[in-house]
Amino acid sequence: MYRADENRYEKMKYLRCGRSGVLLPRVALGLWHNFGSVDPLENQKKILFKAFDSGITHFDLANNYGPVPGSAEENFGRILKSDLQSYRDEMIISTKAGYTMWDGPYGDWGSRKYLVSSLDQSLKRMGLEYVDIFYHHRPDPNTPLEETMGALSDMVKQGKALYVGLSNYRSEDTRKAAEILRKNGTPCLIHQPRYNMFDRWVEEDGLLDTLKEEGIGCITFSPLAQGVLTDRYLNGIPAGSRATKNVFLKESDITEMKMEKVKKLNEVAIGRGQTLAEMALSWVLRKDRVTTVLIGASKESQIEDNIKIVEKLDFSEDELDAIETILG
Ligand code: NDP
Repeated sequence: MYRADENRYEKMKYLRCGRSGVLLPRVALGLWHNFGSVDPLENQKKILFKAFDSGITHFDLANNYGPVPGSAEENFGRILKSDLQSYRDEMIISTKAGYTMWDGPYGDWGSRKYLVSSLDQSLKRMGLEYVDIFYHHRPDPNTPLEETMGALSDMVKQGKALYVGLSNYRSEDTRKAAEILRKNGTPCLIHQPRYNMFDRWVEEDGLLDTLKEEGIGCITFSPLAQGVLTDRYLNGIPAGSRATKNVFLKESDITEMKMEKVKKLNEVAIGRGQTLAEMALSWVLRKDRVTTVLIGASKESQIEDNIKIVEKLDFSEDELDAIETILG
């Protein structure tokens, strides 16, 4: 039977999520990959226990995580039940709906019909009475925002979620959605966009400024560009890495041009006394504009590496300039 490390809260730093009562760990763990029905349960346990022992209190899921879709929620529920039940109140558990989940017109996008059914399914799969955060996973251009936001708000009013969040919404739609949610009495807690050294749309779109003005927290996914911004691919493409077994990161994405930049970034990281993964995560959190980096991990050692960043989040202007030059 798992017992959590008594010193876990000394290993992590926590930051307030927007204008809310919730403190989030600077590093959170997502279960998009490595927690499906195709992945060994023992390794899943090792990763989750290492994360919780490191002070990671936030675990991010979605209805479709697997493969097969739904299996990450099932496995998480299984491990919660067997080992983590007594720690439920120490955890922030999120799930989402918005991408294709089941056949027919009601298993996708942003209708009330889809969101309500999907959250009910997620709760069953995880064996939970409520999730802490329920997200709309991506904007739906064909459903009125009032309907989608209304469904999110009702989930809170019915006690199935404590807070609501948005993911992949651009700045302008975020403002509109936040306004509706505020009127409904269920303010938007958090936004989940992709952000890393190679993908900076949130800066260009003004999303980070919008979130600050609206008092919404920001948790960024794929901060390591799915592992490219680490030492994983420095010497070729290793067996078992994400690029070898996934459609979202392909071997053809590991281009020579990208790896040249990665090698130079690695030199800057070494100069800072960090691994490249650590530097890439610290960079996303620089100046506290982002509340939390949402990482993935295929093994315990990656968690051990990644949580070290909480001791070194600051950058000198010279380091930031050097990084910009490489990325430019
Ligand atoms: P990352 O960019 O952190 O990539 C994680 C991968 O990087 C790991 O699986 C591992 O790859 C590699 N890695 C991690 N740490 C290290 C390290 N220290 N050294 C070397 N390699 C390392 O994030 P993800 O793309 O996994 O996304 C994180 C989470 O964000 C997801 O689980 C999900 O919860 C959320 N997400 C949300 C989306 C949305 O639309 N809202 C979309 C995508 C993700 P390897 O497997 O090769 O070992």
